[in-house]
Amino acid sequence: LVWLASQLVQQDRALERERGHETLTRVASAVTTALQHRIAAAKSSLNQLASLPASERRAAMARMAPTLGPGAALVEFTSGGITVAPTRALLYDPAAPIEQVETPPALARGEWLEFRERDLRRAASAYRAHTSAPDPAVRGAALLRLARVLWKDGRADEALQTYDLLGALDTVSIHGLPAGLLAAHARLGVRRDQGRRDEARIEADSLVARLASRRWRLSRGSFEFYHEEALRARGAVTSPDKVARPAASALAASFAEALLLSRAVDSLWRAWSDVVATPVDARYLLTMDSVPVLVLRSARAGATVMLISTPAHLRAAWIEPLQPILAGEGVTLSLSDAAGPPIFPPEPAPAATLDAPRLTHAAAVSRLPWTLGVAITDPRALSRDFAARRRVLLFSLVVAILLVLVGTYSVTRAVNRELAVARLQSDFVAAVSHEFRTPLTSMRQVAELLDAGRVSSDERRTQYHAVLRREGDRLHRLVENLLDFGRMEAGAREFRFEPVDAAALVTEVVEEFRNGVATSGYEVVLSAADAGPVHADREALTRALWNLLDNAVKYSPEHKTIDVSVARDNGRVVMSVSDHGLGIPPEEHGAIFQEFVRGQAARVSGVRGTGIGLAMVRHIVQAHGGEIRFTSIVGAGSTFSIRLAPAPA
Ligand code: ADP
Repeated sequence: LVWLASQLVQQDRALERERGHETLTRVASAVTTALQHRIAAAKSSLNQLASLPASERRAAMARMAPTLGPGAALVEFTSGGITVAPTRALLYDPAAPIEQVETPPALARGEWLEFRERDLRRAASAYRAHTSAPDPAVRGAALLRLARVLWKDGRADEALQTYDLLGALDTVSIHGLPAGLLAAHARLGVRRDQGRRDEARIEADSLVARLASRRWRLSRGSFEFYHEEALRARGAVTSPDKVARPAASALAASFAEALLLSRAVDSLWRAWSDVVATPVDARYLLTMDSVPVLVLRSARAGATVMLISTPAHLRAAWIEPLQPILAGEGVTLSLSDAAGPPIFPPEPAPAATLDAPRLTHAAAVSRLPWTLGVAITDPRALSRDFAARRRVLLFSLVVAILLVLVGTYSVTRAVNRELAVARLQSDFVAAVSHEFRTPLTSMRQVAELLDAGRVSSDERRTQYHAVLRREGDRLHRLVENLLDFGRMEAGAREFRFEPVDAAALVTEVVEEFRNGVATSGYEVVLSAADAGPVHADREALTRALWNLLDNAVKYSPEHKTIDVSVARDNGRVVMSVSDHGLGIPPEEHGAIFQEFVRGQAARVSGVRGTGIGLAMVRHIVQAHGGEIRFTSIVGAGSTFSIRLAPAPA
């Protein structure tokens, strides 16, 4: 049974695993198909865009841009530069030329005074003369220089005010750089050089915020330089290669996204400019700072159109819509670059689910840009109904084992009982034969003596006849006992009840018994009170008393006084027979009233008997509606009492 159950449980486990695997395969293929569709759809719109004429293409890109969501951008590369949709998706323009520092001729004199003559005052007034020039570029350049000279001259407040005037020009390009940027950076420099770190930090924060707002068109080099300057002033030690996270906030996150997109476009732009004909679908994943960025592209006649999408965008726009399917199936999805960090989920799975059933499809198998993994979210939920089934199985097994045990026990018990009965019966047969043989032997001997005429005196002859009669009586009683016992066992013994005077009956039985045992030296002491009549079968009650007296003699080989009493006790007529003999060991108390049961002492010391005496007494007393009780102490003797209800007057 145990083997069978373990086989079943194992099969069940295998089934459970198979079911889990099926779910995973189904979900993996559903997710793969969904993602393949999205990629195919994106590529077909890119193909459409690429095949449009340039002007229509830009309009179409601008229309599509708002549907992309954060973290994604459409990018067009042409020999003329980069077009991005949404327009503010990037922090800088990778195609922007490096800015050239060029002094406007009007300010040449001021520079001569400032650097050659080192006459700051005159240089300042030379610059100041141009601060209201009609050309804003000249005005800005003059303000920039004026503020620098003022600062060198130790007039910090005036310098800062002048920088503010410069900042107001904001997007006006001064040597290719926005006035606002130059002013903000210069203010930062002044504060830093003054050693006023708090103010410097505030200036730096505002510089970063304005860089993040993408109000200026910058080249990559300028952006990185000013960004790094600001970060350094804020005390954030960052290498320019790392994605700088200005502060922990949603703004910061979108800044990081934009930075990632910018770097990706920059790297693609450089590759595109180097190798003119980049093959279509050359590469899906571009790893920037170990973050995998998805790039889908389509190239037609000198223009390449790309969709660039960061992991955050993929999660929000592509994977989030799949969540209901995944949640419904109880499956967790993971996407990762074969070598790089996971794209989804952003955090590694909790350790508890690491041993959950999982399935991984490499990019080559799934025909997706990523390695796709699916795992059962809660393996215990899957195995719950299997566990219930296994519990039923184990319960049945336990029940079956219990049944087997109970069955074995019952059969063993029944067999033992049969064996005991068989032994009792054979003991009984031996005992009965023995009982018969003893009187028969003495009768035969006496009869032979009488036959041979060898008995001379009449007195002797009378004695022998008495022996013959006594042994005959004994045989008779024995046979009657057996017959009666047989009838009682069969329930065929008919009792004839009549009012019998208990004291008279007991006296009569004792008198008769005395005659039989007087020769062996036994004395029967009778104490008979007037107990009144009982409703009894005279013959049966006599037999019961006789059996008790017989036992008292048999089991008192040494002490030869038997006490018999009859009296009223608690409204009952009680007839007791006491001896002072062997007594009955406590462990036999429960069994001596059963038929054929003989005590250990009786059998060991060879006392004659058949084991039916007390069984008969019990039968008779029960037929009289009375009860039999006994007390016994080993070595001190036993008292058996028959208690009967008195006959109604
Ligand atoms: P038997 O006397 O033929 O063996 P009984 O049914 O009369 O059968 O008694 C059953 C057993 O009870 C006896 O074998 C004996 O061990 C025990 N027994 C009965 N009466 C007495 C007694 N008065 N004293 C000691 N043991 C007794």
